[in-house]
Amino acid sequence: MREKLKALAELQKVDMEIGALRKSAEVYPKQIAELEKELAASREAVEAERARLLELERQKAALEQNIADEKEKVKKWESRLSEQRSTREYAALAREIDIAKKATAAQAEELSEVARQLAVQREALKAKEQEHSARGDQVGGKVAELKKKAAETEAEIRGIGERRTKAASAVDPALARRYETVRKKRMPALVPVLPPGTCQGCNMNLRPQLYNTLRSTLGTDVCPSCHRIIYASEALEGPAAK
Ligand SMILES: [Zn+2]
Repeated sequence: MREKLKALAELQKVDMEIGALRKSAEVYPKQIAELEKELAASREAVEAERARLLELERQKAALEQNIADEKEKVKKWESRLSEQRSTREYAALAREIDIAKKATAAQAEELSEVARQLAVQREALKAKEQEHSARGDQVGGKVAELKKKAAETEAEIRGIGERRTKAASAVDPALARRYETVRKKRMPALVPVLPPGTCQGCNMNLRPQLYNTLRSTLGTDVCPSCHRIIYASEALEGPAAK
């Protein structure tokens, strides 16, 4: 009886190890996805800075074009000033020229402000690009490390698979079937019963008769409330006996 129990306890130990490894393997893809998300956010920040830069460049080009057009216009008007026949016409054109020149001066001021912002924005973009590039190296390193760990864990699980086959072959077939059924629903599937007869799976107290039988046979039974395979704790801990 006791040998059967020991074989099953060994199998469960292997299964718990596999379970713990699988659980730790689950975190790697999540961590990798998290890092990639972070990197995407950093890339978006760079793109936002670049968009601001392009917008300022667009403003600068438009202002330069406007100023050039205005200057061209003023030049033409000035050349036509001498052709004006009446004083009234002359004064009207001179006034237009004055308005255009003032407008051009205001735009030139605006242009120098945009040029100043552009210089600041170029620095901001450069800083974000450097930040992103450093983050990329960092994330790349971390992702590679996590992938390596995941592969190592997988290899470890495969290695334990062989140990499990060996441990499973030592378990009594009827007990193994019972164990497999319980294992799908709850782990651990095999639990000790401690005095005064408490199932360590569900904390319910067994009938005294059932507990006494477990203690005297040092074998296994099924917990009436949680249906786990149970044994008296001394069966695995006590002095060797058959
Ligand atoms: Zn129970």
